[in-house]
Amino acid sequence: MSTQSLDQLKSAFRGDLIQPTDAAYDSARKVYNGMIDKRPRLIARCVDVADVIAAVKFGTDNNLLTAIRGGGHNGAGLGTCDDGLVIDLSRMKGIRVDPAAQTVRVEGGCVWGDVDHATHAFGMATPCGFISTTGVAGLTLGGGIGYLTRRYGLTIDNLLSADVVLADGSFVTASSSENADLFWALRGGGGNFGVVTSFEFRLHPVDTVQFGPTFWPLEEAGMVLKAYRDFIQKAPESVSCFFAFLVVPPAPMFPENLHMKKVCGIVWCCTGTAEETDAATKPIRSLGNPLLDHVGPAPFPAVQSTFDPLFVPGLQWYWRADNFTELSDEAIARHVEHGSKLPSMLSTMHLYPVNGAPQRVGKTDTAYSFREALFAEVIVGVDPDPANAPAITTWCKEYWDALHPYSAGGAYVNFMMDEGQDRVQATYRENYQRLSEIKKKYDPKNFFRVNQNIRPAA
Ligand SMILES: Cc1cc2nc3c(=O)[nH]c(=O)nc-3n(C[C@H](O)[C@H](O)[C@H](O)COP(=O)(O)OP(=O)(O)OC[C@H]3O[C@@H](n4cnc5c(N)ncnc54)[C@H](O)[C@@H]3O)c2cc1C
Repeated sequence: MSTQSLDQLKSAFRGDLIQPTDAAYDSARKVYNGMIDKRPRLIARCVDVADVIAAVKFGTDNNLLTAIRGGGHNGAGLGTCDDGLVIDLSRMKGIRVDPAAQTVRVEGGCVWGDVDHATHAFGMATPCGFISTTGVAGLTLGGGIGYLTRRYGLTIDNLLSADVVLADGSFVTASSSENADLFWALRGGGGNFGVVTSFEFRLHPVDTVQFGPTFWPLEEAGMVLKAYRDFIQKAPESVSCFFAFLVVPPAPMFPENLHMKKVCGIVWCCTGTAEETDAATKPIRSLGNPLLDHVGPAPFPAVQSTFDPLFVPGLQWYWRADNFTELSDEAIARHVEHGSKLPSMLSTMHLYPVNGAPQRVGKTDTAYSFREALFAEVIVGVDPDPANAPAITTWCKEYWDALHPYSAGGAYVNFMMDEGQDRVQATYRENYQRLSEIKKKYDPKNFFRVNQNIRPAA
């Protein structure tokens, strides 16, 4: 990194250039996962597209390992790197809702809470995730699974266009009519193809939803999981609900007798009316002996931020994932065995349903390949104390090892750690080769490689 080149960057750059000797460095280099402790040489915190172009050119001119940071939430820490350049978009937070066209344009540094806030004012939303602090950029580029998935599709199924700075510093727009190959690759291919400076999404009329959990004792987990598996295959698409093993947090919203108790549960978020929701969900909510059942109206942004106070930045975080097209009774028995051994209050296992609208898109229509999947499973070891990192990691790996033989063979890229090329290829399957050709066209030198990497075709 030559001094002359850094001076040139400084003269062209409007955002912050943060180096190891700067007071802001230690907080600027932190990402969401407290297990990740990387020390970049330079953090270029951009305020506009011109800054992004300057930063990309600086990275290529100086041959620097370069990471892109949107919301900084990636479990594997792929929003930062050691001894290289971080192109940090966290100050690029512009959002413009077009209520007539029912679209929203979102800059690459927004988190989903920013988008919910802006679109809820118009009684609309686009499919996002299950928590408001996740970055729009990383979540979208990997696919995007959340409360609105069954009804309105993955986040990428609602992406209309994206502005991108490519590895050579040029700026392009990708949509179904412009650079369509790039647009195809961005819908699931992660940060492999360039820095996305803004996204345009389709909006849907989502305002108040029916939200809340039902909890059951662990002894009933097998019965509940079987019922959930059968239920979700026939449930109306207005019903979204994920299954979880969890420890009830000692929060005032839960009865004291449940605090710190290991339970299983279903978290509901339904876009139908209260009557439609009750009619569809009551049969399963009244199974066995529920410990708690509370489903009622809530504004969508409040739903999205319900778990924010629990999953704060800086926790130790280790997760593993897989896709499932079916869930046999034998797999359910493995779930009950390992789910009952949650190693800390915040550790959990979620089974997210991905049937419904995502399945109306073909396997090769976007880079995201697992359109036939029924569930995206994620096993998450979480704890504030670094001393517990080995325990949560071991539990997570053992749980994953037990369930992986029943899986469809690949995972949702955004729920993967750094697991190597075989896992990346198993996830993109027949789409990998096409992704690799598109990578060769847009990033032949693999400049953008701090990600679930797609190698340029030979
Ligand atoms: C608490 C928590 C909850 C989550 N919940 C959900 C959920 O409900 N649904 C879901 O689908 N996923 C969820 N995720 C996973 C999440 O989608 C991924 O971690 C994702 O990578 C986060 O995106 P980010 O922008 O915050 O991450 P970052 O760490 O900033 O970046 C992650 C990756 O995206 C790339 N990237 C980031 N910004 C850009 C950009 N502007 N242009 C090009 N590439 C870019 C980077 O190269 C990097 O590889 C969750 C993660 C956490 C930690």
